[in-house]
Amino acid sequence: MNQVLHGHIVHAPKLGALEIVENGYMLVEDGKIAGISALLPEAWRGAEVVDYGDRLVMQSFCDMHLHAPQYPMLGMGMDLPLLDWLNTYTFKTEARFADVEYAREVYRRLAAELIANGTTRVVAFGSIHVASTLVLMEEFERAGLTGYVGKVNMDRNGAPGLEETTEESVRETLRWLESCGDGRIRPILTPRFTPSCTDELMAALGGLARERGLRVQSHLSENTSEIAWVGALHPDCAQYWESYDKYGLFGPHTVMAHCVHSDARERGAIKAHGVVVAHCPDSNINLVSGVAPVRTMLEEGLWVTLGSDIAGGDVLPMLGVISDAIRSSKIKRIASGWSQDFLTVAEAYYLGTTSGARYFGAGEGFAVGDALHAVVIDDRGFVDTARLCVRERFERAVYRAKAEHIVAVYSDGRKVK
Ligand SMILES: [Zn+2]
Repeated sequence: MNQVLHGHIVHAPKLGALEIVENGYMLVEDGKIAGISALLPEAWRGAEVVDYGDRLVMQSFCDMHLHAPQYPMLGMGMDLPLLDWLNTYTFKTEARFADVEYAREVYRRLAAELIANGTTRVVAFGSIHVASTLVLMEEFERAGLTGYVGKVNMDRNGAPGLEETTEESVRETLRWLESCGDGRIRPILTPRFTPSCTDELMAALGGLARERGLRVQSHLSENTSEIAWVGALHPDCAQYWESYDKYGLFGPHTVMAHCVHSDARERGAIKAHGVVVAHCPDSNINLVSGVAPVRTMLEEGLWVTLGSDIAGGDVLPMLGVISDAIRSSKIKRIASGWSQDFLTVAEAYYLGTTSGARYFGAGEGFAVGDALHAVVIDDRGFVDTARLCVRERFERAVYRAKAEHIVAVYSDGRKVK
């Protein structure tokens, strides 16, 4: 079926470059982008036109790192650094997801809030529980999200009610994989982080990744105490990333959250192995982890994406994460004696949209042939809108638009809001 969306089309086909088509037409054929045109082509005159008028039609967002079972603690417990924060608040919250009914209620609300805020692609952590992780996948699918969800593996340094034996962790992972459908939400292997997984478990997960061609997500170099701990657990590894690499868990399409303290050698390994960085600015500041050198990573050619990292991060809407990535890069500029440039609005938007979408096989910006993932933003209630150019309105929307301004969301070619 042919459909045309009319409005001011804004997208980011390249890092730092916006393409704007004012009063443009997005041509959509069976949910896939067929082109963007300044005028409605003759051949499309019979198609259904959805007229968004003076509103902004923009790419929707990719949240490349979030912990679904931490949603109930969003905005709380921010008074401790990472390792104490995990033991004091997080593990207790995640342990509650042994209760599937509770999981259903929480995950349904999370899925709705993600869609309401224009997040259509995710790479998410579940908990160690198979049943609840399957519920999470169902609820994400039902709400219209696409992406990857992982059953968490942790067989050491957990908490009461939140730890598996090695045998259990492997067995439950296999059981979970067998129960996953082939819908829009797919499984991803999820060793929580090196301190949570024995060598034996890591080896088993690495084997599974290799045999079944599964993707992997985890955490890397978030906090200095964590890095020291990994060093003590793996004296044979010169750096944190090697504790994943030696088990085959550091390859192309592995998503590593944070990389705040990754030095030039570790960054070189990230790039060489095709690993994807999920930069989570809100979490890094809330847990006083540090400020990631995003500009340096981009200059070195690393694949950088953005994540909310709820609930270390307290900001679920990716528009908020995008503006906080800019803010965080400005802190880095100040702290580096003005030696590192900060991110521009167009650059941060690219990281929150195109850069993440590439992980799911999409092209650059609104690329021809890609399934439509888009948001429509109505900013006409803001002051002076009629006087501003579309570029200024886009910039203001990045900083100011909230769920109530996102009047339509398209995910994988379907209208889901
Ligand atoms: Zn995380």
